[in-house]
Amino acid sequence: MHHMVSANRLATRKFLEGPTMVSRIIPVDPFDLVIFGGTGDLARRKILPGLFRRFVDGQMPDEARIIGAARSELDTKAFRRHIGDALEEFVPAARRDKKHVASFLERLDYVQIDATGTDGWTALAKLVRTDLVRAYYFSVGPSLFGALAERLHEHGIAGRNCRIVVEKPFGHDLASARELNHTLAQYFDEDQIYRIDHYLGKETVQNLMAVRFGNVLFEPLWNAQYIDHVQITVAETVGIGGRGDYYDKAGAMRDMVQNHLMQLLCLTAMEPPARFEPDAVRDEKLKVIRALQAVEPTDLVRGQYDAGAESPSYREEAENPDSTTESFIAMKLDIANWRWNGTPFYLRTGKRMRGRLSEIVVRFKEPPHSIFDEDAGTNANELTIRLQPNEGMDLRVTIKEPGPGGMRLIEVPLDMTFADALGQDDDDVPDAYERLIMDVIRGNQTLFMRGDEVEAAWAWTDPIIEGWTKRGDAPKLYEPGTAGPEEALMLLHRDGRRWRDVKP
Ligand code: NAP
Repeated sequence: MHHMVSANRLATRKFLEGPTMVSRIIPVDPFDLVIFGGTGDLARRKILPGLFRRFVDGQMPDEARIIGAARSELDTKAFRRHIGDALEEFVPAARRDKKHVASFLERLDYVQIDATGTDGWTALAKLVRTDLVRAYYFSVGPSLFGALAERLHEHGIAGRNCRIVVEKPFGHDLASARELNHTLAQYFDEDQIYRIDHYLGKETVQNLMAVRFGNVLFEPLWNAQYIDHVQITVAETVGIGGRGDYYDKAGAMRDMVQNHLMQLLCLTAMEPPARFEPDAVRDEKLKVIRALQAVEPTDLVRGQYDAGAESPSYREEAENPDSTTESFIAMKLDIANWRWNGTPFYLRTGKRMRGRLSEIVVRFKEPPHSIFDEDAGTNANELTIRLQPNEGMDLRVTIKEPGPGGMRLIEVPLDMTFADALGQDDDDVPDAYERLIMDVIRGNQTLFMRGDEVEAAWAWTDPIIEGWTKRGDAPKLYEPGTAGPEEALMLLHRDGRRWRDVKP
């Protein structure tokens, strides 16, 4: 079967080599981007390497400037060196032409600033150009978001042509998210606030919308009549590492489900928006969240990783011997609307699992009547939207096993790994952050969460957490390097279904 799949890829590539493959990179308008927390981990690992790649691709106009801001005592030269090191660490050597790096670093400035104090603000106000698009990236802890917003306003560098990018976590429950929305709203309009969820910047996630709404093939079947169930898995192999302080107070539900998995669920389940426009898309996502039913305790499994042969237990890593925080969660959700009545969505996410995997699996129903003998086998179609590894999609279809021996049915994948199909290396697929930052500069909020969406997600999350807190449920221990606790497998088994394997 391998040949057939390769032939299919080849055809895709040939097709794309035609006029459709011309580069569509259009430079954005000149801008000033201020990165608060410019010396931090996220800035070094994601934001600046992403901006560098946009620069290399010619998307950044000459007048664009990036200003790092943090408390560390650095001058612009030292900051450039710091970021130069980061590029060396996080951009593959083949994509790091010396001239490009030097010219990119020249665009960087640094201002020493304290978000909660007065130091540095006058200098920053002098530096930013108020006649251009200004974006302020809040890549600092959430306790500083309010202080930053207030000071930008006070120093006269907020204003209509500026945007703020707010990192996660956006609150830890409904009350705190509301408060944060309220604080930001004192200084910025909703259309200036970009709440980032980097899952939405993934090529595949946007492709989910292209596949659903750009073809006639799927949408007529995209409902409870033809879809048996949907699985969304985000599995990580890492533990909580040095993030114990934060994570132990959050847990998988707050850290992953309320935001990332919820967003994936929304894009899978939402009604077709009238237009691919920010509010049209976000209105539809909001309706999905509001249609989510409360989760019964029996439809919920929480887990916590135990010690392994070579790895400490969650409690050891969190340095909290009594912790009841979940590092794994699996749940069965019902969406109470016409489209999804009777089709469950199963979600799971966890740390220290067997493999690193993020995917959405849409499992269709079997054909209503089989015309073939029982021993021919039956198969159901399955569409997999893979966020990692190897971003891409895969549609399993049933065909006849080739050759003599009668009619036997087998499943073959129509595989669309983007890197293969589009003739790109994995490195070419733009990273989520770079796309999202360019969207900020362009002023496109489609892939960012609106305030009411975040609040609705918390409004659904809070009672679930309150429920298990009140009941005093302890998470089930699971062995590291597995697919989580046994009970999570049972969640599907009892419905006559099974999770897709989490492969190493
Ligand atoms: P980090 O490595 O601890 O960096 C924090 C940054 O904030 C540093 O540059 C720090 O620099 C600066 N900072 C701290 N206090 C400040 C103050 N009072 N005034 C001005 N600057 C201050 O954290 P991070 O991992 O980069 O995370 C940043 C944000 O992104 C957090 O909200 C986090 O939840 C979110 N996030 C991070 C990741 C990730 O992969 N790292 C992923 C998703 C979301 P100085 O000490 O020099 O001031």
